[in-house]
Amino acid sequence: MPLEAWVEWIGGVAAVCTTVAFVPQIVRTWRHGGRDLSYGMLILFLVGIVLWLAYGWLIHARMVILANVVTFFLVGLNLILKASAGARGKAPPRRLRIAVDMDEVIADSRAKHLRAYNAAFGESLSADDLAGRSLEEAVPESRAARTAELVLEPSFFEDLDVLDDGIEVVRELAARHEVFIASAAMEVPTSFAAKYRWLREHFPFIPTSHIVFCGDKTVLDVDVLIDDTPRHFEGFRGTPVLFSAPHNREETRFLRVSSWREVRALLLGDDARGVPALGVPPVGAPTPRRVTDSGRVVS
Ligand SMILES: [Mg+2]
Repeated sequence: MPLEAWVEWIGGVAAVCTTVAFVPQIVRTWRHGGRDLSYGMLILFLVGIVLWLAYGWLIHARMVILANVVTFFLVGLNLILKASAGARGKAPPRRLRIAVDMDEVIADSRAKHLRAYNAAFGESLSADDLAGRSLEEAVPESRAARTAELVLEPSFFEDLDVLDDGIEVVRELAARHEVFIASAAMEVPTSFAAKYRWLREHFPFIPTSHIVFCGDKTVLDVDVLIDDTPRHFEGFRGTPVLFSAPHNREETRFLRVSSWREVRALLLGDDARGVPALGVPPVGAPTPRRVTDSGRVVS
């Protein structure tokens, strides 16, 4: 085969490869809306193609002209599909990965602990008596160890109440995002079985693959962590959301919510019912309004 024929053949194969390469992208843009495609890149690419066409025309390079005519239509189609998906709002937003703590976030372990303490010591302590302290901190020092041991009873976590709106909002979150239930259950290893049964009873729509019993929550690779215990946010790389509880009321470093309705407003953007988007913002900090699809909190 003469050298000119080889050159023509190599150029033809290269043109086919670089042209057909846009077909998988067109399929992806059609299915997913092309939200990750840059308008700037597509427009610059089209300008480049037009210039290549002019170049091919001027030097009478048939293969250059043919390849760039086809590429022009493929890139143009990508641009139209992306713009069309954006106009219809079809570009699917990114699903956030959200971890939800159990105790004092979805499960009312504080009320059960108070009942168990009052029964054990003949007291009538209420949540208002805690005054910003945990139960162990609020009781006389001589009772602290016994009070802490009350939760070691294997059935302690079996019959906890669900905090208001917890099931409904977690279900809504799970429909829109990827939700994990993450409990530092290693703090009370005897709680595993009861916690698992409680979750299956009240949150059966959370698959078992998304139940995480752990120790250090920095192991979680999620965008948002909803927790009542500030120390779980130390070293956490996502957006911490502090769920209000008596023991964390002095904490001001984190974005705070006081109810599941506020979680809904924050993460699902539902302000329609007059629920404030947030609870008390950190002192001196700007008031964050919502979490974006990329997991950032913005005002
Ligand atoms: Mg907790």
